[in-house]
Amino acid sequence: MRIGIGYDSHRLTEGRKLVIGGVEIPFEKGLLGHSDADVLCHAIIDAIIGALGLGDIGKHFPDTDEKWNGASSIDMLRTVIEFSNDMGFEVSWIDTVVIIERPKLSPFIENMRHRISEAGIPINAINIKVKTNEGMGYIGNGEGAAAQAICLLTRIVGKR
Ligand code: MG
Repeated sequence: MRIGIGYDSHRLTEGRKLVIGGVEIPFEKGLLGHSDADVLCHAIIDAIIGALGLGDIGKHFPDTDEKWNGASSIDMLRTVIEFSNDMGFEVSWIDTVVIIERPKLSPFIENMRHRISEAGIPINAINIKVKTNEGMGYIGNGEGAAAQAICLLTRIVGKR
């Protein structure tokens, strides 16, 4: 078994789509970044890369690489999951937290779980929690959003 932890944050800005957990959420601002800046997918990707012992997301998806400019983070997540499968591991569990003041994300959690499962994680192995920051700090004042993830990888039976 391997365990990994991931964290990410992005600035909220006008003129960008808000994409979290692979779901486009109607809002007047979106997260700023090289890819679609999907803060939840990035935290999950870092948790998986961490469990594999392979550094971090910036090493594998550098923001200098045009390939990932405007990329769907679900595609980046799929790439990392396929990589872990090639190394003989499957994602057995992920637990996550998204911290954002607005908009309210709870109506989108089931859609996010479905989207993330399309990248190669069983839907019953995906837990998503959403929180506000109680009005405190850069998240509380709407300047940005953050996410945390933890994942459990286990050996695929028959692979060594
Ligand atoms: Mg990021």
